[in-house]
Amino acid sequence: MARPDDAVKCWCNRCRSDTYHHIAASHETVVSGTDPRGRDASRRLIYYVVECLGCKDIHFLKIDISPEDLIWCSNSEHPFDSPYVQENYPPRNIARRVPEWIDLIDVSLASMLRESYMALSIGAVRLAAMGGRAALEYIAIEKCEDMGSFKKNVNELVNAGFLAKNLESTILSALDVGSAAIHRGYTPGLESINDVFSIVENIVESVYLLPESGERLSFTTPKRPEKRKS
Ligand SMILES: [Zn+2]
Repeated sequence: MARPDDAVKCWCNRCRSDTYHHIAASHETVVSGTDPRGRDASRRLIYYVVECLGCKDIHFLKIDISPEDLIWCSNSEHPFDSPYVQENYPPRNIARRVPEWIDLIDVSLASMLRESYMALSIGAVRLAAMGGRAALEYIAIEKCEDMGSFKKNVNELVNAGFLAKNLESTILSALDVGSAAIHRGYTPGLESINDVFSIVENIVESVYLLPESGERLSFTTPKRPEKRKS
């Protein structure tokens, strides 16, 4: 869809994607101030009421731009991309269904995952990414000993036979999304955060649930009769 004149692209909960929006109203203000070192810490706050051009849903955005970003934004068509959008109302809803197996796994891990899904449901994608990373680290340390680094911990899971070797780089990629959210201010997109949770869920199933399913099957399946010796 071509961008209509005066439209901006931002998240729509109903369309569950970034869509073009008409700006119904806006208000801008500058909050002046200095930080403890006396440097300019002014913020440019812009409030928008926007209407989705797809479903006609109306919502509210607050955008917060720091002084170092002011020049970039003044040259930009619109500053609607993360991390400038500080608040959405209603909150950006990218809820993911909590897996049915959540009550069957380790209680601490289940609690950690529940909080991560909750963060996701209110659009707190960075917190959700941190939660996903914490869950992966927890699994590695709970199943093996803490080797002192993510890479070594994941490698230990492989060495101990909990994970296939070809999954090692996949897990490290998911861990890196969490690290980038913590240390580099990265806000994962919808696809990335869904990938992280698909990986986390897959690892939980491989490490905790599939071995138990295998045991149950071997217990309930009738054994093959022994061949008679002639
Ligand atoms: Zn919409």
